Amino acid sequence: MTAHDRAGYEPAFRPLPLSEAASGLIAREKACGANNYDPLPVVLSRGAGSWLADIDGRRYLDLMSAYSAVSFGHAHPRIVAALVAQAQRLGVTSRAYHNDALPALLERLARLTRLDRVLPANGGAEAVETALKAARKWGHKVKGIPDGRAEIIACDGNFHGRTIAVIGLSTEPQYRDGFGPFPPGLSTIPYGDADALARAITPRTAAFLVEPIQGEGGIVVPPEGYLARCAEICREHRVLLICDEIQTGLGRTGRFLASEHDGVRPDAVILGKALGGGLLPVSALVGSNDLMQVFHPGDHGSTFGGNPLAAAVAIAALDVLEDEKLVARSAELGAWLLEELQDLRSPIVRDVRGRGLFVGIEVDARYIGARPVVDRLLARGILSKDTHGTVVRIAPPLNIAREDLAWAVGQIRATFREIERDLKRAA
Ligand SMILES: *Cc1c(COP(=O)(O)O)cnc(C)c1O
Repeated sequence: MTAHDRAGYEPAFRPLPLSEAASGLIAREKACGANNYDPLPVVLSRGAGSWLADIDGRRYLDLMSAYSAVSFGHAHPRIVAALVAQAQRLGVTSRAYHNDALPALLERLARLTRLDRVLPANGGAEAVETALKAARKWGHKVKGIPDGRAEIIACDGNFHGRTIAVIGLSTEPQYRDGFGPFPPGLSTIPYGDADALARAITPRTAAFLVEPIQGEGGIVVPPEGYLARCAEICREHRVLLICDEIQTGLGRTGRFLASEHDGVRPDAVILGKALGGGLLPVSALVGSNDLMQVFHPGDHGSTFGGNPLAAAVAIAALDVLEDEKLVARSAELGAWLLEELQDLRSPIVRDVRGRGLFVGIEVDARYIGARPVVDRLLARGILSKDTHGTVVRIAPPLNIAREDLAWAVGQIRATFREIERDLKRAA
């Protein structure tokens, strides 16, 4: 039986009944929404800090943070204030004109990443597309690869978003099924294997696109020194190293960028998710002058990218990250969390891994999938999310209260004890 078959398997658990109001809203969403998500059966209506409430007033601790988009908690007063003030003054201008909010964001991102130039966008996938375009153009104009022949290498198990080019890089069959044909010039190699990168590079390779820790792939932490070795190989072969830090960036792993753990300064970094302060989609490609020189007026653009509202919110989010010292907090609380969870000592847990407040609990597919664990945590007032069938993702807001996290650890421990008991009974 595969992990995915097991994901629906559940020995004894009965979820809390939904109220009529909640079932009604879920039914309306199902009736008129495209069916591309399978949400947990909870209808949220309020959020403050690390806590959410559903429409019936039940409270939940958020250990998911909207896939790290809410790294600073829900409705952070300072970020909300920046949003409201900027919205009342000037919201969207397009890049047909200059605006007085954008320069500070560009300077800030360049300084924080130790890179030179920023191309602001909205969603994550859009910024990844921007990176692919930049890399191809650099390959042609700067490296001298014949036009239309540039190659880009990514890793097995990657997640870079859902556009056609980006899923052209995916190795997840479901993400690709029926969506072809995909653009040429894209390939993948095993993750965590630097020698595989060295072997895969050809004279036409423009870039290597990699997540410093694979998030959607199941919180996969590569071997020590992997990224540093990749950076070396890229430098030797004049290949761009592009780090997708959409999920790992902005303190999630205990450094501002996860690539800093390896002492690596990539040629380009892609940011998103938390950059929008939990309120807006804000993303960016940040790159070296050598890469970013390929862009000239009219080459690329986005109606909403770099709008004053997004810039003000992103600046406020970065202010919060700095002033609340959340990078250090993620490192410190995350180390504590990892130690606690590694001490679960459950026969149904295969592995607990992560860095900073970015932790995955991998269950043993022979006994249970991740989704039933997530369902049970939900009934106990904890929001988490299964990824890759067998991994429970734990990624709370970086400013979660220590007592709240400790309470959650207790609930997680109790959940595993309960599942072990039910499995024993069912056997
Ligand atoms: C979420 C994510 C993306 C895609 O971002 P969207 O905003 O959903 O388009 C890309 N790369 C990584 C590593 C991500 O985690």
